[in-house]
Amino acid sequence: MEDIAIIGAGPAGLMAAQAAAQAGRSVALYDALPQPARKFLRAGIGGLNLTHSEPFDAFLGRFGDRADILAPMLRQFGPDRVRQWAKDLGCETFVGSSGRVFPKDFKAAPLLRSWLRHLAGLGVRFHPRHRWLGWDEQGALRLATPDGEKTTTARAAILALGGASWPKLGSDGAWTGMFSPAVLAPFRPANCGFEVDWSEHFRHRFAGTPVKAVGVAFGERRFKGEFVITAHGVEGSAVYALSAPLRDAIEADGQAILQLDLKPDWNTEKLAAALAKPRGSRSVASHLERQAGIKGVLAGLAREGLSAEDMLKAPALKAVPLELKRPRPMAEAISTAGGLRFDALTPDLMLRDRPGTFVAGEMLDWEAPTGGYLLTACFATGWAAGQAAAGWIS
Ligand SMILES: Cc1cc2nc3c(=O)[nH]c(=O)nc-3n(C[C@H](O)[C@H](O)[C@H](O)COP(=O)(O)OP(=O)(O)OC[C@H]3O[C@@H](n4cnc5c(N)ncnc54)[C@H](O)[C@@H]3O)c2cc1C
Repeated sequence: MEDIAIIGAGPAGLMAAQAAAQAGRSVALYDALPQPARKFLRAGIGGLNLTHSEPFDAFLGRFGDRADILAPMLRQFGPDRVRQWAKDLGCETFVGSSGRVFPKDFKAAPLLRSWLRHLAGLGVRFHPRHRWLGWDEQGALRLATPDGEKTTTARAAILALGGASWPKLGSDGAWTGMFSPAVLAPFRPANCGFEVDWSEHFRHRFAGTPVKAVGVAFGERRFKGEFVITAHGVEGSAVYALSAPLRDAIEADGQAILQLDLKPDWNTEKLAAALAKPRGSRSVASHLERQAGIKGVLAGLAREGLSAEDMLKAPALKAVPLELKRPRPMAEAISTAGGLRFDALTPDLMLRDRPGTFVAGEMLDWEAPTGGYLLTACFATGWAAGQAAAGWIS
């Protein structure tokens, strides 16, 4: 019998395996898919933002009202530790201009290969195509395997089954069926796009077009960023950064209005003075372009959100309303909010009603924006669960 069975070979499960194996425990690692860490590899396509370099208190603040619960784990395995861990695996990292931390080669595959070699060296045995089905009456783990259903027992177990976005990469959220609804917070899309009722003309002309260096504002938050127009609405980093409050506002009010500043580097007076210059026989569009450089997709956004008489008014152009109807489906989201509630767990991530079973990663009920926070919290909770499981056995 292995000391520890880990189900789910994403970043949280792999980190739990590393912690448990380094603590001298034998580890069997199971995953439903033929290869481990499919979502981690997919994150590599976007450059693999491993963590963030901002001061620790600011970093912690990104986890909102889960910051206190996650703090001990993030203190133990936080941004510096993530960078050292990557370095130990031969992957140098660097801090980008936004403070985000990436591998120097922006790739996930070499880091993952090196990590899997390290885990194999520690004796971790990986069993692909083993889908966890729940527990049998004796508490053994039920697994669907290519050779039929099997059960396995270990002295402790760690579940690291992921959230419910991008189900084709493994995290399909089916594990929620193995738990009582009382211990689950419903899954909701996080870091997601939103739907907008574009006019046919705008959709046809601009779907796929990036919107760069525009001001976005919602509630207290206001910053310069970029996003992409899609056939259904908007997606991209500036939208993801506000997606939790936008999603919550839509749930409460049926819609959310994102405000766009189409000329963020000019104040209202400067824009008003430029637009007040004589227009002559020029159209509104060419006056906007000539006097303020607002053209193409920016002019299109102005037309979508403003009345004809506001099109040349500076205050209106600095607060163009964009009405978001609903989040895009969860399967498209970068991550999910919701999952196993922390009050069902001890502080070291053990299920209160199933002693010896620990939980880690995105399947827990926390959320954070993009920026390396997601992976760091998966590593931190994985490390904590691995250490706690190893300690629990003794
Ligand atoms: C396109 C994209 C880009 C991203 N980029 C970044 C980024 O740059 N930086 C960042 O911080 N985060 C990023 N993320 C988010 C990050 O990848 C996830 O938060 C992270 O992978 C979650 O780790 P996890 O180990 O908890 O779960 P997962 O990575 O989802 O792994 C869960 C594993 O459990 C397995 N599993 C599920 N159910 C079962 C079962 N019943 N039996 C057996 N196995 C099962 C799955 O097959 C999967 O391998 C990105 C996400 C996406 C979709």
